[in-house]
Amino acid sequence: MKKFIPSQIFIEKDALKYKLTHEIIEKFKNNNIPIFEENFKKTFKKLNEQQFFAISKKTLILSVNKNKKLETCKPSADYQFSLVSGCPGICEYCYLQTKHACSPYIKVYVNIDEILDNIQKYIDNNRPKITTFELSSISDPISVEHITGSVKKTIEFFSTQTYGKLRLVTKFTNIDSLLNINHNNNTKIRFSINTDYIINTFEHNTSSLEERIESAYKILSSGYNTGFIIAPIIVYEGWKKDYENLFSYMKRKLEEFKNKEISFELIQFRFTLKSKDIILKRFPKTKLNLNENERLKKWGPYGYYKYVYQKEISNELKKYFYEKIKKYFPNSKIEYFT
Ligand code: SF4
Repeated sequence: MKKFIPSQIFIEKDALKYKLTHEIIEKFKNNNIPIFEENFKKTFKKLNEQQFFAISKKTLILSVNKNKKLETCKPSADYQFSLVSGCPGICEYCYLQTKHACSPYIKVYVNIDEILDNIQKYIDNNRPKITTFELSSISDPISVEHITGSVKKTIEFFSTQTYGKLRLVTKFTNIDSLLNINHNNNTKIRFSINTDYIINTFEHNTSSLEERIESAYKILSSGYNTGFIIAPIIVYEGWKKDYENLFSYMKRKLEEFKNKEISFELIQFRFTLKSKDIILKRFPKTKLNLNENERLKKWGPYGYYKYVYQKEISNELKKYFYEKIKKYFPNSKIEYFT
């Protein structure tokens, strides 16, 4: 797929002090992309939900991340931090619809050195234990890596750490700049994958399955630790056949790495009433099954009830995925099924 190019850039006042802001302006100065030193939300406050969402997904905001207190990130890592929030992808089920409903734009944090200084403090305070960090909890940072170069810088920072490890996940393929750098095995790059039906129906503006697997091949060839997140696992007519085709395709493409331990993280589809409401406003014709009466109601960690598959379906999914992964990737490790 084509690399994301914003249709407009907004710069917050504080961001003007940072080098990355000026590097990004320089990159786009000949592209006729309007650049504003204004507040994006105020500028477009009169738009309705759908119009605001559509324009946000094409807008890049340069900002400063002042958050020094990191949130925990179980089961993926000890903490999460962000170089970016939001993403140009338009996945109908994206959990950011709940968490960042009012801010669907792509915000790039330009104070990368300060962000990494803060990470260093967390690592040092926890020595001699190893501290792990997730980079993709509120964004897909690879989606704009061709604009920021921040993931590369962060991987190089972690390559010098004895007690810090980095994890990130993506549905995009802007990974070429990460291939020939020293990562020192301290970064794990996972790919979020799914069946062609799910990608084509729900994951608009993201890379295709073929492109993601091709990127996984390159990342494995560069010696990174790699894994796959299958999320959301969705039950639909023909799901078993489609997921089996997915595993068989991956096995063929990644045969060369069959002795390497590849990890899998498995997350079933879930929704909250808040996300349902937002999804139906933004995607009125969605094919996602959002009927809470067919689901099990469970208390979620973010203070909302979530609706998950009924126990029998969930058990069937778990059994199916464990069997297929063992069959196609016998040396792999399933980190969790949730
Ligand atoms: S790529 Fe990830 S972060 Fe971006 S919209 Fe899709 S699920 Fe959300």
